[in-house]
Amino acid sequence: MAYDTAILFRDDSYLKEIDATVLAINERGGILTDQTVFYATSGGQPGDTGVFVRSDGSTIGIAATVTGESKEEIIHVPASDQTLPAIGEKLTLRLDWDRRYKLMRMHTACHLLSVVCPFPITGAAVSEDDSRVDFDLPDAGVTKESVTQKMMELVNANHPIFTRWITDDELAANPGLIKSKNVRPPTGTGRIRLVCIGENASVDSQPCGGTHVATTGEVGAIHIGKIEKKGKENRRFRIRFGPLPEGV
Ligand SMILES: [Zn+2]
Repeated sequence: MAYDTAILFRDDSYLKEIDATVLAINERGGILTDQTVFYATSGGQPGDTGVFVRSDGSTIGIAATVTGESKEEIIHVPASDQTLPAIGEKLTLRLDWDRRYKLMRMHTACHLLSVVCPFPITGAAVSEDDSRVDFDLPDAGVTKESVTQKMMELVNANHPIFTRWITDDELAANPGLIKSKNVRPPTGTGRIRLVCIGENASVDSQPCGGTHVATTGEVGAIHIGKIEKKGKENRRFRIRFGPLPEGV
């Protein structure tokens, strides 16, 4: 059975908590609610953690958030030994916002890297303090210093970041929007979410379902920690927070 959950982070990635009603508990103890601000693991971005607050003030720790049979089905996975809520119970869903905000900054940094290095992407993984993007790129031909400098120019320009929805047909007419070599955006639902950077998307636009900050300036200081060779045709770029360490 499919559950209809309103997915609020798609339109507002800054919502930190929301009241919701429990729709179901699945066979593994995962909690489904009528609406959520918890992002579910997808597209290289890990799912959210946090707590569900019950009416008596007690909390249920949420250790992970994953998708179910479709990306519309969001399952909140409690930490071990948590008391499960009742179906129909009203809860306040509260994110671990410090962690999520770092993930939003890191995820956005991955978009900036893909602007600076416009090569086909073969993989990506976002984490709180280190992210990686793999490119189909036989010879990097760039240094971590030069890539860091170009990414920081985009950060310092403080470009706006916004989303807009396009149809499957619009995407088919603009195949250049897709930067990932292996992962195709889900089509068939009739609409695709584009993440745009810059006035009128002048810097970049690409299909993405993740959470991002509202301006490139919010990414803050970042640098390329390493460019690694991964096989003959792949280069792995690692993004870290903070300025590029000097003399390394
Ligand atoms: Zn994204």
